[in-house]
Parts: sequence; structure tokens; C-alpha cells
Amino acid sequence: QGEELRQLVASRLRAIPDFPEPGVVFKDFTPLLRDPAASRAVVADVVRRRAGAVDVVVGIEARGFILGSVMAHALGVGFVPVRKAGKLPGETHRVSYSLEYGEAVIEMHQDALQPGDRVLVVDDVLATGGTAAACCQLVEACGATVAGVEVVLELAFLHGRDHLPGYDVVSLLVDE
Ligand code: AMP
Repeated sequence: QGEELRQLVASRLRAIPDFPEPGVVFKDFTPLLRDPAASRAVVADVVRRRAGAVDVVVGIEARGFILGSVMAHALGVGFVPVRKAGKLPGETHRVSYSLEYGEAVIEMHQDALQPGDRVLVVDDVLATGGTAAACCQLVEACGATVAGVEVVLELAFLHGRDHLPGYDVVSLLVDE
């Protein structure tokens, strides 16, 4: 059943070369979102794994909002957005991390999580892992606990897991 799901999801991702810049192969998951059976299957898979074990879903701007909010709904828990700097109106925790070129800053509302909350971090793609690791730091800055990290696709050749030691990172598909 797992293999069937993986094949279905793989058929709904498309690779767009040289986007957003030369040399990058962009993994576009809009065809997955467009297919209700495939997107429901992805959500059901996460629910099977995480039901009862998470109190909140945290989604990373922007594609983590789409996946994370449907997962939160299906799990019956709330959703918290992590956004790029300057977008959230309230008091925030912020973490900066390095990208291939330059720096990125992401933020989360300070009062979005309570100490003891078990948090599921969701994004579409795990690449270098910098974004997911920064997101886990934001969760912990609130005193909450990262119960796991769920991504649809892991680009294993970028070794993103090395930035997430000790976390329960699950990827539906892995590109070696
Ligand atoms: P990273 O911090 O390097 O793990 O990058 C993760 C973030 O960038 C995620 O929010 C992804 O959505 C996005 N991303 C990185 N590489 C790709 C790619 N090849 N295709 C699609 N999205 C990507």
C-alpha cells in the first residue's frame, strides 16, 4: 500500500529544470494539489502516523501552509504559520539561517504555542534542511516539543537530515 501511494504521489510531482535559477530542479507539487484522490491519500498517510500524537501543526510559508492546514484539519488540531520576516503582525520569535546565497529569516508568533505542545512541522520539500531546522528552533523557543517533521519529498543528496539530528523526520518520497 505504501508503494502504491508513493507511485501515485510521484506521478503528481513534476520537475521543472532551471527554476527559480539555473542549475536548480524545482519540484512542483501543484499537480498533486489538483488531484483530490492523491492529496487526500497524502493527508491520510500522515493522519495514520500522527493521529493522537500531535497537538498542533506548524506549516512553513508558503507551500507548508497548504499541506499543513489540511493535515491540521484532518488531525483535528490547530494550525500555526511560520512566515518570512516582516509578515506576522504580533510579537514574534525569529530565527535566521544561511541559504546557498545569503540569509533567510523566519518568524512565528510568540503566543502561538504553549510549553508542552507536541508539534508536527510540515513542508513540501526537504532540501538542505535549513528551513525545517530553523522552524524546529522556533517551536522550541516557545517551550513546545517537535513531535516530528513531515515532508512529501526529501532531496537526500542535499543531506537535509544532518540539520535535524534527533528529530523524527518522515518523507513520503526520497530522491537519492
Ligand atoms: P531547505 O531550507 O534548503 O531545506 O529548503 C527548503 C525550502 O525550500 C522548502 O520550503 C521548499 O519548499 C523549498 N525548496 C528547496 N528546494 C526545492 C526544490 N528543488 N523544489 C521545490 N522546492 C524547494
